[in-house]
Amino acid sequence: EEVINLIAAGEVIDSIAAVVRELVENSLDAGATRIVVALWMQQWRVRVTDNGCGIKLTDLQQAAIAHTTSKIRNSDDLWKISSLGFRGEALHSLTQLAHLEILSRPALTAEGWRVVYATGGEVVEATIAAIAPGTVVKVSDLFGNLPNYREGLPAIAQQLKAVQTTIQQIALCHPHVTWQVWHDDREWFTISAGKTSRYVLPQILRQVHLSDLQELKIEVPHPDNLSNCKDEIATHAFLNLVLGLPDRCHRHRPDWIKVAVNGRKVKLPEIEQTILTATARTLPRDRYPVCFLHLQVSPNHINWNRHPAKAEIYLHHLDYWQEKVSQAIEQALRINPA
Ligand code: ADP
Ligand code: MG
Repeated sequence: EEVINLIAAGEVIDSIAAVVRELVENSLDAGATRIVVALWMQQWRVRVTDNGCGIKLTDLQQAAIAHTTSKIRNSDDLWKISSLGFRGEALHSLTQLAHLEILSRPALTAEGWRVVYATGGEVVEATIAAIAPGTVVKVSDLFGNLPNYREGLPAIAQQLKAVQTTIQQIALCHPHVTWQVWHDDREWFTISAGKTSRYVLPQILRQVHLSDLQELKIEVPHPDNLSNCKDEIATHAFLNLVLGLPDRCHRHRPDWIKVAVNGRKVKLPEIEQTILTATARTLPRDRYPVCFLHLQVSPNHINWNRHPAKAEIYLHHLDYWQEKVSQAIEQALRINPA
């Protein structure tokens, strides 16, 4: 029952895709630029390998204990700006839902460690391991203790699709990362750093030809009376806009307008509407754009509590951001008029 409560709780690990999301977000928080995801669906097994900062032994021993996190030490902490995880729940939950093993070697140390966790997060085994700098997290027998739950999950093909969508959406927020995804010991797909939107968007939106994809990165000041951050970095926000105007008329419902904030895809209906309105001024009425907008703003402008799973957020100073988004889209359309 305790395990079921975990599944029902906020930051949910309810699928293979959710495991991938949590592990990959940890890799990104560790500064990884190369992430390899390997899946063995029949065995309910996932392995994520990264070239991030690694975890030293003393931290490995704590990593799966409830609410242990190396991130965010205080509210002014810059981590808060870029860090995707900060509750210290994912690895702990995984020890209750699966078998968890981590191999890690911090950069500049001579050797790594392999650690096996027991349910609850204590370390049951720790041995020296010869690995490259970075971290390998191995999850196996996911939901093994919840046979009925497993039964109720969708077919493998659908679960794979969910994994792919998860990785694509995260990749769009982190275009500097190279991704390699394996399924049953075979390479399934890769995404090269810097080519993300060109690779990912056409994949998501089959038959839409996006030869005129615009990518803009615009730096704007935060509405200053609001961000009382002393740090230089925190005084500016970034709007990363990927705007595609399909060659042939894209007459589908505009279901491909996506917004991410600080590295995480979110639902932000007001901003999505702004994008539609701004593009509608230029596009014929039955032609829809493809748009991915990534806002990077000071975390004190975000309220994550609109939705328990943080999928939907409130953005403070909405008017300000809506105006900036409109301007960015106008700029993109000026560069490449429809
Ligand atoms: P959170 O991400 O909320 O801090 P997690 O349970 O996901 O909590 O991870 C616990 C801790 O383990 C992290 O705070 C981090 O210190 C460490 N960790 C997990 N995965 C990695 C990784 N791939 N690289 C470096 N450190 C990691
Ligand atoms: Mg995490």
